[in-house]
Amino acid sequence: MLRCEAEVFRPRTLNDALQMRADMPDATVLAGGTDVMVYLEAGVLKPTRILDLWGCQGLRGLGFADGSQVYGAGLTCTDVLQSVQAHPLLRDAAATVGAVQIQNRATLGGNICNGSPAGDTLPVWLALNAEFELASVRGFRRVPAATFWRGYKQMDLQPDELLVSIHVPAVTGNSHFRKVGTRMAQAISKVIFAGRSVAGREARLAFGAVGPTPMRCAAAEEALVAGAPVDEVVRLLEEEIVPIDDVRSTALYRRKVAGRIVRRWLESLPRG
Ligand SMILES: Cc1cc2nc3c(=O)[nH]c(=O)nc-3n(C[C@H](O)[C@H](O)[C@H](O)COP(=O)(O)OP(=O)(O)OC[C@H]3O[C@@H](n4cnc5c(N)ncnc54)[C@H](O)[C@@H]3O)c2cc1C
Repeated sequence: MLRCEAEVFRPRTLNDALQMRADMPDATVLAGGTDVMVYLEAGVLKPTRILDLWGCQGLRGLGFADGSQVYGAGLTCTDVLQSVQAHPLLRDAAATVGAVQIQNRATLGGNICNGSPAGDTLPVWLALNAEFELASVRGFRRVPAATFWRGYKQMDLQPDELLVSIHVPAVTGNSHFRKVGTRMAQAISKVIFAGRSVAGREARLAFGAVGPTPMRCAAAEEALVAGAPVDEVVRLLEEEIVPIDDVRSTALYRRKVAGRIVRRWLESLPRG
């Protein structure tokens, strides 16, 4: 049975949350708790204080500002799935997280700040050119998703900061999401792909679970924009990703599957 003696703080407003974060940078932040509770149960985390954001107002909005779509960090996967405004790539990713019980609690902010390279929404943010808005009592700052994850579970996030929202500019093009796991639900990804292509102008080929951080394949993207054959794009991306052998899969399997996902998607796109 889970036993935790930590004192729990439940801010109701963002201002209160930021003040508490500043006063208690050692406190464990909890949003939906679907990762944190596992760490508590396993004894990996032994916090004395928990900052519980679940009831914090202002983190669950989905709207528009300055031409961008703005997702509150506290939106759950279920919120995303129930919103007609959410980008299809994000809806596809949200639908693959755990199963319904997990989707009801799992937040976007938790997925991003848990920092696991196998987080299913992470390649989506790369494919959508998203920026993360981080806040502290010192102010707000924006960090591109492309530079947020710096190494395995290493993020550009200060101890007094919270992720408050995700900004997605108006993007166009064909897009595709694919998660490969052992089962259709409750499976940690072996390979995750989120792609977007505007013929001759822009390409995003973003992967998760094939390296220490979610990553884009810059050389393959460049080749795709330049109109290179699919074989060449696939060859380049198979070179760029850096998968490992682990309990879930082998590096070879991940490399081959990553190439196949992209090949099938590109071959299904209208030519031109
Ligand atoms: C049975 C099960 C199945 C799962 N299946 C999947 C799956 O298929 N795909 C997948 O991607 N994940 C899966 N997960 C992992 C988890 O559900 C997701 O990562 C989820 O999005 C985490 O969100 P949360 O709100 O529960 O995060 P929490 O557990 O509350 O927090 C996660 C981390 O983020 C930090 N954090 C949370 N919010 C903020 C914030 N606003 N600012 C700063 N830091 C913050 C916390 O301090 C913590 O370090 C699964 C978990 C379980 C238990």
